[in-house]
Amino acid sequence: MKHVSNWVFDLDNTLYKAECGLFDKVHILMGKFIEEKLNLNSGEAQALRSKYYHQYGTTLRGLMIEHQINPDEYLDYVHQINYDVVEPNESLRDTIKELPGKKFIFTNANYGHVEKVLEKLHMTNLFDGCFDISESDYLPKPHKEIYEAFQNKFNLDNSSTAMFEDLHINLREPSALGWQTIWVTNNIEYNLNKDVNLKEDIQKIMNEKEYISHVTDNLENFLNNLL
Ligand SMILES: [Mg+2]
Repeated sequence: MKHVSNWVFDLDNTLYKAECGLFDKVHILMGKFIEEKLNLNSGEAQALRSKYYHQYGTTLRGLMIEHQINPDEYLDYVHQINYDVVEPNESLRDTIKELPGKKFIFTNANYGHVEKVLEKLHMTNLFDGCFDISESDYLPKPHKEIYEAFQNKFNLDNSSTAMFEDLHINLREPSALGWQTIWVTNNIEYNLNKDVNLKEDIQKIMNEKEYISHVTDNLENFLNNLL
């Protein structure tokens, strides 16, 4: 990865660990929003949230297509959470700072959320640019055209770009563009059945998914090894 000079990071469950529970809080509010808007009970709402997430890439996308939901209203609602569970991570910040070249955030969330998370992580002003879901007219990763829009916005050279993500499916298109792809398995418990052997499952996924160049369960160690 010596030729990499553009470092692209997903935000949620990539720059911080899923265990802090921030995303669980968002999921609860997503369910509540669906309950209120579509007049469903909580079980039905959570089932629909999960269904749309898997079918459309984000729950929001499903709500926009199937129910004409206003995206900003939804995003404001689901991010009314307490961000204190996200702990500062100065050592990861210092490591990212040392990477040669430019650093970017590429997220399916919105700018308001990015700002609050980065503030908690003590990573405000660390990144050279950010691309949120509003920039792509609320079409999420892993849609192909979003990566091209991202690349165009920052005028990136594909051969010197690397992307870090907790959802490996979001690495398929960047790999096709020629980016290096690094799967950060922080969020593995959301991807896999909790009863299984994680190491074996990660290996199985690595064998099957050729679009993943590297895998790590510790982003900071991975970056420090490069430095
Ligand atoms: Mg993520």
